[in-house]
Amino acid sequence: MSDEVIPQGLWTGDYFNEGSGRDGIFDKLKEECGVFGVFGHPDAASMSYYGLHALQHRGEESAGLCVTNGGDFNYHRGMGLVKEVFDKDRLASLIGDRSIGHVRYSTSGDSKLTNAQPLVFKYRDGDLAVATNGNIVNAPKIRRELEQSGSIFQTTSDTEVIAHLIARSSKDFVEAAKDALQQIVGGYAFLLMTNDRMLVASDPNGLRPISMARLGDAYLFSSETCAFETIGAEIIRDIEPGEMLVLDKNGLHEDRFAEPQRKALCAMEYIYFARPDSELNGSNLHSSRKRMGRRMAQESFVDADVVTGVPDSSISAAIGYAEQTGIPYELGLIKNKYTGRTFIQPSQELREQGVKMKLSAVRRVVEGMRVVMIDDSIVRGTTSRRIVNLLREAGATEVHVRITSPPFKNPCFYGIDTPDSRELIASSKSIEEIRKEINADSLEFISPEGLIEAVAGNNVNDYKGGLCMACFDNDYPTRTDFNGEEQFGCSC
Ligand code: SF4
Repeated sequence: MSDEVIPQGLWTGDYFNEGSGRDGIFDKLKEECGVFGVFGHPDAASMSYYGLHALQHRGEESAGLCVTNGGDFNYHRGMGLVKEVFDKDRLASLIGDRSIGHVRYSTSGDSKLTNAQPLVFKYRDGDLAVATNGNIVNAPKIRRELEQSGSIFQTTSDTEVIAHLIARSSKDFVEAAKDALQQIVGGYAFLLMTNDRMLVASDPNGLRPISMARLGDAYLFSSETCAFETIGAEIIRDIEPGEMLVLDKNGLHEDRFAEPQRKALCAMEYIYFARPDSELNGSNLHSSRKRMGRRMAQESFVDADVVTGVPDSSISAAIGYAEQTGIPYELGLIKNKYTGRTFIQPSQELREQGVKMKLSAVRRVVEGMRVVMIDDSIVRGTTSRRIVNLLREAGATEVHVRITSPPFKNPCFYGIDTPDSRELIASSKSIEEIRKEINADSLEFISPEGLIEAVAGNNVNDYKGGLCMACFDNDYPTRTDFNGEEQFGCSC
């Protein structure tokens, strides 16, 4: 099979990685958010609907769209999936040639409509809408200072901080936005829209992905390029670290608010979050994951009868591992297609059943077999143990686990909702201790060098291949200490 061909139908479910995080049965890292922007298309709302639908895996809690023709804003936000929040009539009412849209994942206590984006404000120069993906590390500090000087916040979202900073400035919108962006520290991609302009910005390290495409005369912006493919747009390029694009009636202006710092795109986007048909830094994600699988096979070969991947994100790597070793790739694990929402009470017994509702081992494939099981990460270890046990109950004689990320030891400050360090199994246990905990016959993680070489491609000479690896090696690309007023995880 060609490296560039995506194996249709090899992952299941309505959405990539659907249901892996929302009810706690799957102990996975939680996706952050997705943003999608359109400038200069007469049916911006419909374009955005399809774009957000393609980004659904990045956030299943709420969705929103703000549209304008250059006058008043039309917007709608709601809790739920894109297809639940918007129907035909609602989309028809969102008239305009430019829009910004958002899908959001949130922590459970924070899951409410007031935090759904885009956030929309009235300020002295008119209307302002903001949509973001990521996290502002110093948001609590800035927020406290703003509140002390009289600002009243409507939401608990970080995103409101940037709106307040812009609104308090006496400068023109673009200069005010630059000033505001220079005050915040973190990993983010912002879409901002006023009545007559749109602004797109990426943090100075390029931690969170955002790309640009063209469709006719229109400009499109998306957290992932898979959304461009959905609507037939031509990918132009990624937004550079520290870059700010301004769109108005005269077209596109390239500007920047900060000099680019060390390039540090989130490694977990490559490993787990992004869809396999998306591109990051010019590399197709399915191909990158296959290279991770091949590299794992070189680093930690084990003699076995079949290779299988945990759906959805580990299937590409499992194919790579199988190609490198010559051990056949098989669908040893199948995800139930209708997994998105299960209302299961979190008792231990029902949680175990919940895993079986969402994932099945294929007895005819694994019975009597020595199985290599490829997965993307181990967070607390509970999910890995359940999946290993599923394979054993289905008759696997040996289960060898290979993980395509290095041990996940440190919390994320840039938009990935991670548990407290004490709950991250790799922060306190050795690989051998984790192996015993998850009931595997052997366990190996890809090396940091192996991961960088597998994903970085032409950027391999950049520091760490241009990747953030902080959750593995504690080397954060930005300042993270604000005297106790720092914020980690995702709060957009
Ligand atoms: S700390 Fe980990 S999850 Fe967070 S941005 Fe860096 S690589 Fe991604």
